[in-house]
Amino acid sequence: MMEKACLRTCGGTPVLTYPLDQVRYKSDDGRLLEVFNPLPSFTPEQVTALREVFDMRLFSRNPVDKSGVWRYREFLSAFRPYDNVVTLFEGTTPIYSMPVCAAYAGMKELFVKHQGENPTGSFKDNGMTTAVTMAKKLGAHLVACASTGNTSASMAAYAARARMKSVVFIPQGQIAYGKLSQALDYGAITIQIDGDFDAAMSIVQDVCAQGNIYLLNSINPFRIEGQKTIMIELLHQLEWQAPDWVVVPGGNLGNCSSFGKAFDELLASGFIDRVPRIAVIQAEGANPLFQSFASGNRTLVPVHAATRATAIKIGNPVSFVKAWHAVDVSRGVVEQVTEEEIAIAKSRIGADGVGAEPASATTVAGCKKLVEKGVIRPDEKAVCILTGHLLKDPDYTVEFHRDELYLDAQHESSVTGTRKIDTRGFANTPVRLPADVKTILEYIDKRK
Ligand SMILES: *Cc1c(COP(=O)(O)O)cnc(C)c1O
Repeated sequence: MMEKACLRTCGGTPVLTYPLDQVRYKSDDGRLLEVFNPLPSFTPEQVTALREVFDMRLFSRNPVDKSGVWRYREFLSAFRPYDNVVTLFEGTTPIYSMPVCAAYAGMKELFVKHQGENPTGSFKDNGMTTAVTMAKKLGAHLVACASTGNTSASMAAYAARARMKSVVFIPQGQIAYGKLSQALDYGAITIQIDGDFDAAMSIVQDVCAQGNIYLLNSINPFRIEGQKTIMIELLHQLEWQAPDWVVVPGGNLGNCSSFGKAFDELLASGFIDRVPRIAVIQAEGANPLFQSFASGNRTLVPVHAATRATAIKIGNPVSFVKAWHAVDVSRGVVEQVTEEEIAIAKSRIGADGVGAEPASATTVAGCKKLVEKGVIRPDEKAVCILTGHLLKDPDYTVEFHRDELYLDAQHESSVTGTRKIDTRGFANTPVRLPADVKTILEYIDKRK
């Protein structure tokens, strides 16, 4: 008899467990919960057989096979029997080799896995398909989240597919327009809160508790379950050979946490025999995990977050304890990068013909820094997780290339601020020329 999946405290004692159908996000003593999946330890023959099943599903027309999350449903036993699945065919995102970025970071080769190529343009879809599926199983009609943008875009889409009403809480004036436009179009009740993300996160928990609304922030353990499959899919794509490094941005720290959980389960079930090392990269202005890592003090000291990479502008990350577990199981490291380093790395990702939103660029910037420090060797295999699509935050990109990118941009007037981000010659500034062929050809000749 196999044990049953349940919710379980992660970290600390005693280990408390709760049934999956109990709506709760913390244990009675206030600790984070995770989904406990009883995994059979497979025989080598069973592992080989299941790998072949995963391969076969790539050619299937069945929605739960086509989805790059549900394809790996043997690792998602909490959602059995998979009859309520809400999917937009998320996942199945490509891996690119990035020669411009590799040269910039000082590596022989550098890879990215682009989670921005998901249905709503960010990796949040990998976790939202599972969490909204669970919301549907639990009979929820109303779901909510606080968001720096991508969570709300994703939640609004999946809620609409499941015919649920969604409520998003966003920090006033601190969300990129691409993301806001999605939440509005997918029909979410959109509430702008005076204050930052951390303030919005705090209020949404009270509203959900008192209003009987199902909370879909990454404190919800079913989000982490879906995001786990980003690593399972990556390893599948790499024919189950772990790269040396997986490099991921750190904001609320749900994503890196889910990678740690994936590694635990892939190891325990015999799918891999070696775990990649995680490098979590934070913006210098929103760096509580980095500070903890650098000082060795494992208690969370929240910071007042300041960065133009709004997706990681989070000073009080919910999944702090889980993120430390991911760093531990993978002999990981945590690094921080400046606003300039993020901006320039982003332009290098663009120069490879791929592009990403600012938060994603922490990864390439972090690689460069870790190579300089001798932590990552130039000949090692590193995969950066690009978390969001280039078009999520067009303002940032245009301001960068016009060389008018400010940490504290004042959008009400023109684009001004007090702290300009130095583009160090990487800006590709648009020009105005008269409609005259000769002048234009001379100009192109100079630039080519
Ligand atoms: C949410 C998000 C992050 C941060 O992920 P966490 O799980 O909160 O650490 C990074 N980049 C993008 C584009 C995001 O949407």
